[in-house]
Amino acid sequence: MNSNFKKLTKHRKLLLLGLVVVLVVVLIAATSQKVKIIDKTNSLMRSSSKRYANRTLDRINQIVVHHSATIGQTAEDYARYHVLSHQWPGIGYHFVIEKTGAVILCNPLTAISYGVEGHNTPSIHICLSGNFMKEKPTPKQLKSLSKLIAHLRRQVPQHLGVFGHQDYGQTSCPGHYLAQHLHQFQNA
Ligand SMILES: [Zn+2]
Repeated sequence: MNSNFKKLTKHRKLLLLGLVVVLVVVLIAATSQKVKIIDKTNSLMRSSSKRYANRTLDRINQIVVHHSATIGQTAEDYARYHVLSHQWPGIGYHFVIEKTGAVILCNPLTAISYGVEGHNTPSIHICLSGNFMKEKPTPKQLKSLSKLIAHLRRQVPQHLGVFGHQDYGQTSCPGHYLAQHLHQFQNA
């Protein structure tokens, strides 16, 4: 009787331990799939007089991927450049993915910001920092891009195609070292 009881409690302990392990694994898997987004919509430079037009989320059906074509610059630099040199209402991208893999939200998805003339209304513009004619995107940037695309596909009702800027015009953007990765996101 006594030994049976001991066996049972040992059994239960093992079962409990097993459950805890499964729970931890599931939690780790869930959090590693989740993208961490740093919201800089209120801190990046904006025009004092101009505002981007707005859209509803059901108008969006594609992601256009860009590179910054610069080395060592960040979302703050692109915002300044777009506002001061281009005289745009704000940074043209919705997201910037820095070298570290950090995902920066630059404009709300409802803003029709400027990335590709004539194709902005249905587009979410994502820029990876770097010049991918000359260098490769970091593995962390590609991982963040993959997670961000999956996240965005859960946010908007229409299926999001994934394109490079060069699919819409005479530009080398986003650079062949990044462009060669984009096909894997098309239907993923
Ligand atoms: Zn571009």
